[in-house]
Amino acid sequence: MAVRCSKCNGTAVIYLPYGNENFCKKHFVDSFERRVRRTVREFRMIRKGDRIGAAVSGGKDSVTMLHLLRGICDSMRVPLVALSVDEGIEGYRARTLQVAKENCRKLGVEHKILSFKKEIGITVDEIAEREERMRTCSYCGVFRRWILNKAAREMGLNKLAVGHNLDDAAQTILMNFLRNEPFRLARFGPSGGIIKHEFFVDRIKPLMRIPERESAVYSIIKGMDIRFGRCPYAHEAFRNKVRCFLNDLEEEFPGTKFRVFNSFMSVRDVLGEKFNTNETPMKCKQCGELSSQEVCMRCRMLEELKFEK
Ligand code: SF4
Ligand code: ZN
Repeated sequence: MAVRCSKCNGTAVIYLPYGNENFCKKHFVDSFERRVRRTVREFRMIRKGDRIGAAVSGGKDSVTMLHLLRGICDSMRVPLVALSVDEGIEGYRARTLQVAKENCRKLGVEHKILSFKKEIGITVDEIAEREERMRTCSYCGVFRRWILNKAAREMGLNKLAVGHNLDDAAQTILMNFLRNEPFRLARFGPSGGIIKHEFFVDRIKPLMRIPERESAVYSIIKGMDIRFGRCPYAHEAFRNKVRCFLNDLEEEFPGTKFRVFNSFMSVRDVLGEKFNTNETPMKCKQCGELSSQEVCMRCRMLEELKFEK
C-alpha cells in the first residue's frame, strides 16, 4: 500500500526521518522552499541594496540554489548574476557547465564563465599531471575561491552565494574538530565570516540546512536537467571517511547532521570572539588580493607548481 503524505493524504515521495514525516511532491517542495527562505531570512543573507552572485557549478545543489535565489532576489528587487568556473577537467566540467548555462538561460539570469587557464594559467588536469591526485583538490579549491572573489568584486557584487548543503556543513565542522583547527571553524558559518574587508566578498549559504538527499530529490521533482556526475579527482580521503561516518550515524540516529550543525551554531559566536585577532588582512605582494601573509596562498601554490614543472 502506498505511503501517504503526512499533510494531505496524497502519495508520499519522500520520508524525512528526523521529523518522522512523509511528504507528497507538493508538500515536500513547499517545505523545502520554506526552509531555504527561512534560512536566508534568519541569517539576513540578502538585504535590499545587495548585488548577489551565485556560484553555479552545474551540480544539483548549485542549480537548485540558483532556482530559489532567482525567486527570492526578484521579490526583493535585488540583482542576481551567476558565475561558473571552468577548472579544465576533461570529460567532466564541460557537461556541468552546459547544465549551468542552460539553467541560467531558462531563468533569465546573466551568466559569466571564468576559466583557470585564463585567470591562473594552469588547468586542474595539468595540476593533476604533476601533483599527487590527492592534493589536486587543495589547489583547485584555493584557485577557485581566488578567481570567484576577484571576479565577483570586479563585477560590483557584494555577496557570493554557494550551494553548500547540510551534509557539507556537518562534514566540515567535524573535520575541523578532528584536525584541531579551531581557527578555520571560527571562520565557518552560513554567512559572512570573521574576515571583514571591502576586498572580500561575503559568502552566503542558503542551503546550509538542507540535507543533500533532499536537494537531489527536489531537483528531480522540479525536472532540472542535472547529471549526477562526479569529478574524477574527488578523492579527498578524510572527507569521505567523515561523510560515511555521518551517514551511518544519521541512519541509526536521525537528525545527527542537524545536531552537529546546531551544536556548532551555538558556540560559533564564542569561537569568533576567541579567534578573531582583529588583524587587518594585507594585500598580497604579488597579486594584490587579500591575504593573511605577505604572499597569498594562491601565489604560493603557483610558485610550488612552477618548481615542479
Ligand atoms: Fe576541484 Fe577537487 Fe572539486 Fe574536482 S573534486 S572540482 S578537483 S575541488
Ligand atoms: Zn597573491
